[in-house]
Amino acid sequence: MAKKYVYSFGGGKADGNESMKNLLGGKGANLAEMAGHKDLKLPVPPGFTLTTDVCVYYYSNKRSYPKELKEQVNKALLSVEKLMERKFGDPSNPLLVSVRSGARKSMPGMMETVLNVGLTEKTIPGLIKQAGGNERFVYDAYRRLIMMYSDVVMEKAAGIEPKEDMGIRKQLERIMDESKHKRGSKADTDLTAEDLKDICKKFKIRIKEVLGKEFPDEPMQQLWGGIGAVFASWNGKRAISYRRIEGIPDEWGTAVNVQTMVFGNMGNDSATGVAFTRNPGNGDPHFYGEYLINAQGEDVVAGIRTPAPINTFSQSTHNKELVTLEKAMPKIYKELFAIQERLERHYHDMQDIEFTIEKGRLFMLQCRVGKRNGPAAVRMCMDMIKEKLIKKEEAVLRVTPSQLDELLHPIIDPKFEASNKPFAKGLPAGPGGASGQIVFTAADAVAWAKEGKKVILVREETNPEDVEGMRAAQAILTARGGMTSHAALVARGWGKCCIVGCSAIHVDLAGRKMNIDGKTLKEGDWITLNGTKGNAYEGQLPMMDATKENSMLMDFLKICGTIKKLGIRTNADTPEDASKARQFGAEGIGLFRTEHMFYGKGSDEPLFLLRKMIISNTLDERKKAIEGLFPYVKKDIKGTIAAMDGFPVVIRLLDPPLHEFVPREQEKLEQLAKELNINMEELTRRANNLHESNPMMGHRGVRLGVTYPEVSAMQIRAIFEASAELIKEGKKPYPEIMVPVVCDVKELEDHLVIAKQIYAEVLAKYGIKTIKHMFGTMIEIPRATLVADKIATVAQFFSFGTNDLTQMGFGFSRDDIGGFLPEYLKKGILPEDPFQSIDQEGIGELIKIGIERGRKGRKGLEVGICGEHGGDPRSVEFCHNVGMDYVSCSPFRVPIAKLAAAQAVLKNKKNKNIKKKK
Ligand code: PEP
Ligand code: MG
Repeated sequence: MAKKYVYSFGGGKADGNESMKNLLGGKGANLAEMAGHKDLKLPVPPGFTLTTDVCVYYYSNKRSYPKELKEQVNKALLSVEKLMERKFGDPSNPLLVSVRSGARKSMPGMMETVLNVGLTEKTIPGLIKQAGGNERFVYDAYRRLIMMYSDVVMEKAAGIEPKEDMGIRKQLERIMDESKHKRGSKADTDLTAEDLKDICKKFKIRIKEVLGKEFPDEPMQQLWGGIGAVFASWNGKRAISYRRIEGIPDEWGTAVNVQTMVFGNMGNDSATGVAFTRNPGNGDPHFYGEYLINAQGEDVVAGIRTPAPINTFSQSTHNKELVTLEKAMPKIYKELFAIQERLERHYHDMQDIEFTIEKGRLFMLQCRVGKRNGPAAVRMCMDMIKEKLIKKEEAVLRVTPSQLDELLHPIIDPKFEASNKPFAKGLPAGPGGASGQIVFTAADAVAWAKEGKKVILVREETNPEDVEGMRAAQAILTARGGMTSHAALVARGWGKCCIVGCSAIHVDLAGRKMNIDGKTLKEGDWITLNGTKGNAYEGQLPMMDATKENSMLMDFLKICGTIKKLGIRTNADTPEDASKARQFGAEGIGLFRTEHMFYGKGSDEPLFLLRKMIISNTLDERKKAIEGLFPYVKKDIKGTIAAMDGFPVVIRLLDPPLHEFVPREQEKLEQLAKELNINMEELTRRANNLHESNPMMGHRGVRLGVTYPEVSAMQIRAIFEASAELIKEGKKPYPEIMVPVVCDVKELEDHLVIAKQIYAEVLAKYGIKTIKHMFGTMIEIPRATLVADKIATVAQFFSFGTNDLTQMGFGFSRDDIGGFLPEYLKKGILPEDPFQSIDQEGIGELIKIGIERGRKGRKGLEVGICGEHGGDPRSVEFCHNVGMDYVSCSPFRVPIAKLAAAQAVLKNKKNKNIKKKK
């Protein structure tokens, strides 16, 4: 039997179905399903689909068709004619068709379409009859066909590349403008049938002049011209570049859909509209949509007339005066309502549908899974579980991590964002949206905020001394820095909107202004940031609160919790952050960065003591400073362990290079010199001694403890004493002591001696037998992954510090990557920022080696991750796949990590099932 290249649909039947997307394209498969599935059999205008195989044949055979095609098209056309009781090319009762593309994956607007095919001088009278004598409508349809056909088929598909502004469409538009001008009118709708008749004549003359060929006034020639043009548009420039961006293979090809034309602009008993089976803006379980009487689909999209609501649920302030479809055409509305119910039940998901009413008859033109925002996505899933439309596993797979993120922060109202152009772009470091007045120093941020102003702190880059200003600001924008720079880390921890590495910005701190490509923005000017996308806008754009649906969010997260296998912990340094994370369901702390207690509110005293410790020259001096510091460290640790009662808390010993803590302000320096009883010269000398060429690879982490054991000892004592006190208070502390920047087991052995001694001392002091705890390490130096088996003989747990592991694995400075990353991404040298999502090919291999060797060294070794990647959905999936026990991320990313962990389990199951079937 000859190969089947053409699939018919319509009249309650279809050759294909929804599962045949590869062959029929998305649009063709959905039309077949709507038309032919036994539960649907919807009024779809009949038609047929030329398969993607035809496209593949076309390109591998010098743009020719398989020999069977013509006969199959003729047969399919005949059955459409029978169903419609009209004939293609018939002067008295003509059938008109549309010719549209339809690839496997939607490529919106990238390929061509020709409408009204089959309309010729000869068939015009027949169409006028069908349109109840409406001549204007028919000549308008004819001029649209001539315009589209000459542009798409005769020019573009023929490979003609006219000079700017000289394309045939542009030339024909100018003819139309002249006619309108003559009439003194502005809109197309002012043109009469006679005007349009005249325009069509002029169009044909101009086409002959410009393209050297007659417009084909013959139906079959038009049809095959249209089909050829759609196939040719698969290799048009737009389509090719879209495929490159979306990763759609060239060899897929497109299908072509030939379908009966139905008209929503045949008079006041005709209409066209777009609707959703539920509200895509908030998830309300009500039919929702808009329509226009006497209009074509493109009029709804073009926004020239305000569409009317289909029912009361679709009313808003700007359309509530207009008559609903329910009132205007009650019978049709009832039919449409029943259809949308069936569609949703059939597809088990919210559908986006397009419909047309032609002279009182309803037609369904398209249906597909509807796009929705975050709150709507969660709401629909929870409702659909209750309605028994979907299972909880399906619900979890349906919400994307970025949709969930929308529920956690205010966002810029998408309606307004779409019509604004960003003045600069940077890296999306902290999610959500915010607007405020520009300030350039942390002190100004604090002062202005105190006056009740909303500010955005703009800095070249931030440092720990800016923390108070960052806290006071609505959002932070920096010109330098990467995704793990100081600003990014801090902002993300607070769930605050932040953009970093915005290299187009040049901050002029002294002049209190910034320049961006010739534009100047001054202190006090309003700007708005979208930290989820990394876009900065001028002015104050309206915000939308997406956080209302919180009880729904909590229920949804509970479901994720029943599916996921990975533990979800949080990176938190204060009792408040710990409590926030607990609310979101964090199961412990994966990283408590001790040094953060020296920044921000209430840090003056401990920071001063820490500075004293750093600048101390003798053991005695240092010990005194440490003694003063001890109660502060213990208090912070105790508060945080208490907030996480019963759950593990990983406390990391002091990590950053010490010179970061040396004050910069003269007044603070003088105070320090006085306290230490030394002069300024001596202080400067000691401070200079701390300076390092490569501080990230310098005297930090465990190296501090090796040189100053008393510093580690103080912290370990604080951890054990805080825990002992909590035990006495009836709590269940579970600290995990974590040593950072380790590259060899001997560093750990050195520290284990200290830990053991202090543990014994604390037990004796408090008269208790044991404190449940673990002693372990971060794995953040490449060498550590390679010698992980030895390290694990001492470490009871590993936590991958993927910020440093990425930095040292790539040799990219984590604070300076913003300088060259954009170029790397643009040139495709890197697929994405490796500080955002784990580079699975390289750094991921190191992690796998580390886990495998680590578990060889110690059976049952606990393994987690605490780098920023712990909150990135793709990295979470990777962590699940390589067998980690938990991921840890900032409190606001806990819900996202939870969802990603649940999705990882379900995706794995799906993949296994597919493999089994094969
Ligand atoms: C890391 O390196 O991944 C990490 C968590 O530590 P920090 O970011 O504090 O260096
Ligand atoms: Mg680190």
